[in-house]
Amino acid sequence: MSNKVYNFSAGPAVLPKIVTQQLSEAAINYNDHGLSILEMSHRSKPISSMVEETTELVKEILNVPENYDICWLQGGASTQFSMIPMNFISKTDTVDYADTGAWSAKAIKEAQRFGHVNITSSSKDSVYSYIPKEIQQDSSSKYLHITSNNTIYGTQYKVFPNLINPNGFLIADMSSDIFSRIIDVNKFGIIYAGAQKNMGPAGVTMVIIRHDLLDRINDNIPSMFDYRIHVSKGSMFNTPPVYAIYAVNRTLHWLKDMGGLSVIEEKNIRKSDLLYNEIESNLCFKSSVAPEDRSTMNVPFLFDGTGDDAHFLSYCEDCGLLTLKGHRSVGGFRASIYNAMPEEGIKALINAMQSYEKGKYVK
Ligand SMILES: *Cc1c(COP(=O)(O)O)cnc(C)c1O
Repeated sequence: MSNKVYNFSAGPAVLPKIVTQQLSEAAINYNDHGLSILEMSHRSKPISSMVEETTELVKEILNVPENYDICWLQGGASTQFSMIPMNFISKTDTVDYADTGAWSAKAIKEAQRFGHVNITSSSKDSVYSYIPKEIQQDSSSKYLHITSNNTIYGTQYKVFPNLINPNGFLIADMSSDIFSRIIDVNKFGIIYAGAQKNMGPAGVTMVIIRHDLLDRINDNIPSMFDYRIHVSKGSMFNTPPVYAIYAVNRTLHWLKDMGGLSVIEEKNIRKSDLLYNEIESNLCFKSSVAPEDRSTMNVPFLFDGTGDDAHFLSYCEDCGLLTLKGHRSVGGFRASIYNAMPEEGIKALINAMQSYEKGKYVK
C-alpha cells in the first residue's frame, strides 16, 4: 500500500488532518491545563466555554437567525427519528415524510409509532435514484420531513420543497451534507445532523430548532427526549459528549479559516464535477443517479457492463484509495467526498479509474 491514503468512507468519515492532530494533543493536555480533555468536567470553565463557542461557530458559519436554538445531543441522527414525532405529534395527527432513501424510510418507521404518516412521494421503485419533485402534502400536516442528502444513494435536494400548510414546518435530516453548502436556515423549523459524516466523529448530534416550536411540544416527554430541557440547559442537562463536540469545534474553525460555506461549496462542486465527469467519460463505469439530483458528498458508481467489483476495490486499495465499496443495497462503488476530502484524493481516484480503464482494454 502506498504511504498516502485517502478515506472515502461514508461515515465515520475523513476529518481534516489538522483536526485529528489537535484532538490527539487535547487527549493528552488540553490547552495547557495539564489535563486530558477526556478527564475534565463538562461544567469546568474551559469546557463549558468551548461548548458555547462551538454553538457560536455554528451560528456564524451557517448564518443561523436569532430565533433558533442549537443543542448537542447523543443517540445519533437515529434518535431524532423518534424524538421529533415524540415531541410534536399525537396519534390523531398527520405528518408528511418524503421517502428518498434508507434513512428516510427509517425515520418514517419511527414516526408511524406516534401518528399517521403521509408519504408525500417515494423513489423506492427506482432504487432511490432520484429526488421526487412532485410531492403530495397533507393540508393538515404538522410538519414535512426530508433527508437533504441521501448518503447511500447519492442524491441531494438542490431546491427544498415549500409547505402547503402555513402552520406546518420543514424538518431536514442533514447528517451527510451539513456545512457542505450555503442554506437558508429560515426555511426550516428543525435541522438535525449526526456529526460523523461532515463535522466530526460519532457521538454527537446537532439539532437546530426554531424557538417558537418549543411551545408546541407535547406534555410528559421524558426529560432526555424533551427539546425544551436541552435548550434551557444549554446542552448540559446531563454530561454531553465533550470530546466529540471539541472535534466539531476544531472542524468548524478549520472551515471558518478556509472562508466558510461559500468557499467549501465551490470546492465541493468542483470535486464532485471532476468525479462525475470521469464516471461519464470512463468506459468502465457509469452512474445510475439522475444527473440533476447528484450529490456533491456521496458519489455511487457501477461497472458499465460486466466487471469484478472486488478486483477494482483491491486495485484501489493498492493505490491507497480506501473504503470505496458501495452500500450493500446498491452494490458497486461509492466515493464519499465530504468537506475534508482534498481535491488530490479525487484526482488520485480518477487516476486509478483511468489506469483501470486502460488496463482492462489493453488485456
Ligand atoms: C448516517 C446517517 C444517519 C444515521 O446516523 P446515526 O448517527 O448513526 O444515527 C441518519 N441519516 C443520514 C442521512 C445519515 O447519513
